[in-house]
Amino acid sequence: MRSRRMQKQSTLKEATSCVGIGLHSGGKVTLTLKPAPADSGIVFVRLDQNGLRIPATARHLSHINHATCLAREGVRVETVEHLLAAFHALGVDNVIVELDGPEVPIMDGSAAPFIYLIHEAGIRSLTAVRSVLKLTSPISVSDGARSVAAYPCDSLRLSYTINFDHPLLRHQEYSAEIDETSFVDEIAPARTFGFLKDVELMRQSGLALGGSLDNAVVLGETGVLNNPLRFPDEFVRHKLLDLLGDLVLLGNPIKAHVVATRAGHELHTKLVESILDTPQSWEFVTEPTPAASAVPAEVAEPA
Ligand SMILES: [Zn+2]
Repeated sequence: MRSRRMQKQSTLKEATSCVGIGLHSGGKVTLTLKPAPADSGIVFVRLDQNGLRIPATARHLSHINHATCLAREGVRVETVEHLLAAFHALGVDNVIVELDGPEVPIMDGSAAPFIYLIHEAGIRSLTAVRSVLKLTSPISVSDGARSVAAYPCDSLRLSYTINFDHPLLRHQEYSAEIDETSFVDEIAPARTFGFLKDVELMRQSGLALGGSLDNAVVLGETGVLNNPLRFPDEFVRHKLLDLLGDLVLLGNPIKAHVVATRAGHELHTKLVESILDTPQSWEFVTEPTPAASAVPAEVAEPA
């Protein structure tokens, strides 16, 4: 089986861009995605800050502000998670993400516009082999009744349970094996959501200035202000999308079953840091290409 083909890293075929608004600043921002060489990873570039580069890794995690924020040398990039989730699901390992402002545009609050953008650019295979972070023993983080735990698994599976004090959100759960099809059809279209009372508070502190019924599902006291929902359980599906985006900060694709209960960006990113701090709980593996995996293959061993 020496000739079996291992999965290769990928990047975009060509550059592509779109314009949207920043959820918090309300300002217009241009997002441009460009091809990048093997082993360079996902790197944000702030064109309006002398082209400062901010790699999308846990090392550059900054604060959590209802969204995941990266920073380097005092320069930020906010709301990275929906775009990062789209890269993971479509298998884009290396890409330059140019921005002319501090936020990834919110678009419609989901990852669907980013899927469209990446498909428009096309995906190109590189010659370098892709290393996948495969969990070998469980790791978990928690905060009271909230938790995120990762267990060894032969694929990437995410399970999420939410439980808010709101008539529509008493209990929703969702579990999915993440591949391109499941993500594009079942998860990417799920929009971000917020509570009307929080939106008002956030605006008073200068946040969510770009938020509108066009880019978030807004929950009033008893129902949704902007029906119809895209899925009856759109809320929990969006949480799964956020979790996937935050896992990208590991710096490599991951194979594990990640189970989140009433969590958020804070705990998702804590899990990422905890995994990186526990190298004895995982190993890097290479994977056969899907075609090669259809034939009986030996257990993967280092080349
Ligand atoms: Zn989100």
